[in-house]
Amino acid sequence: MVLAGKTALITGSTSGIGKAMAESLAAAGAGIVLNGFGEKDAIEQQRAALEEQYQVKVTYHGADMARPSEIEEMMMVAATEHGRVDILVNNAGIQHVADIADFPPERWDAIIAINLSSAFHTTRLALPAMREAGWGRIINVASVHGLVASKHKAAYVAAKHGIIGLTKATALDAAGSRVTCNAICPGWVLTNLVQQQVDALAQREGLEQDAAKARLVGEKMPTAEFVTPEQIAALTAFLCGPHANQISGASFPVDGAWTAQ
Ligand code: NAD
Repeated sequence: MVLAGKTALITGSTSGIGKAMAESLAAAGAGIVLNGFGEKDAIEQQRAALEEQYQVKVTYHGADMARPSEIEEMMMVAATEHGRVDILVNNAGIQHVADIADFPPERWDAIIAINLSSAFHTTRLALPAMREAGWGRIINVASVHGLVASKHKAAYVAAKHGIIGLTKATALDAAGSRVTCNAICPGWVLTNLVQQQVDALAQREGLEQDAAKARLVGEKMPTAEFVTPEQIAALTAFLCGPHANQISGASFPVDGAWTAQ
């Protein structure tokens, strides 16, 4: 229980990677602030189950990461309800796939706001209390697309490259206060976000689901297997632990050798 007494706020933790991260941090003893969209009953079920299984305090705030005023409110409520946010995981994200010439400007704005600017806002609001406490962890969920590009993902690639820059800048500003900041760069993980791309490929090429999944993964990942949310969550827990005290400003690909090519 290396994180007993700590509180972790994970944006976009009602599904996919963020949901698995909330579970791994609760299992390590941290209280949890969930965030993200979804059905009210399903979110309450997730909240109550985490609380019961791991005997930690779990709350939920539904702030829209595209709206700075809602982010400010979430950070204030989290600090009031839990005392302090010790671990901040910036994970909420969306995708839109289109050639840059056809890319809808409002989709560009939404992706930059949710996948990049929200992390600036949560970080600027969480850092003062972490500095004062002399301990903190900030983990940004970037992507392989923070390291390399793919076609038709202009906004996502720009936001994810941006968040790797933000990770380095945050690590430098936080250095000396025992607050670290790192980025995780997953390859394909089969979540809602990727299922939409599987469905689009299956429809475009007339493929069965399994064939579309195999094609998607095989095109980019030499290991030809999806990364699992639990694998990302385990790295997150490690980065929050004492063995990671001197790891800061780094970006970790978990990508089946995608970016080794
Ligand atoms: P997902 O769609 O399963 O989860 C996204 C989460 O973000 C959900 O909880 C959703 O409700 C929340 N969210 C979306 N818009 C929001 C908003 N405006 N305000 C608050 N919450 C919002 O997708 P995922 O794959 O688990 O994605 C999580 C992160 O991982 C994203 O940043 C994504 O870019 C990144 N990522 C995913 C993959 C992958 O292959 N799935 C690969 C690399 C990086």
